[in-house]
Amino acid sequence: MKIHRREISLSTKGEVDIIDITSRVGEVVAESGVSNGIVNIFCRGSTCAISTIEYEPGLLKDLPNILERIAPKDLEYEHHRRWGDFNGHSHVRATLLKSSLTVPVVNGELYLGTWQQIVFVELDVRPRERRVLITVLGE
Ligand code: ZN
Repeated sequence: MKIHRREISLSTKGEVDIIDITSRVGEVVAESGVSNGIVNIFCRGSTCAISTIEYEPGLLKDLPNILERIAPKDLEYEHHRRWGDFNGHSHVRATLLKSSLTVPVVNGELYLGTWQQIVFVELDVRPRERRVLITVLGE
C-alpha cells in the first residue's frame, strides 16, 4: 500500500469561478505509480469546494444560477453581522457542495464518466490564491 501526496496551487478569478482540475489530478495519480486505489482531492478553506460537473458552457452558468437560488447573495446572514465580510452565502454554499471528493483509481486511470470532470469551485467574493491537496492511496 502506497500513499502519495501533492499540493497544487490555483489562482481564482472570484465568485463562482469553476476550474477544471481533472488533468492535474490525473498527473498526480500517474506520478504516484498507484494502479488501483482511490484519490482524494481536498480544498483548504471554508469558501471553496471540490465537485464534478460536465464542463460545458451551459452548466458553467447553471451552477452559479442555482447556487444563487439556494443561498442568495443578498439574504441577511448572521455571518455578515458578526464579521462584516459579506460572504455568508459563500460559506453556506461551500458547506453544501463539500470540500473534498474521492474518485476510484482503476488500472491507473481515474474512474470518471466521459463527460464528468473534477472541478474546483471558488465561492468567495474575491479572487484568491488556493491550495488543493491531492492524496493517492492504493497499490
Ligand atoms: Zn466569511
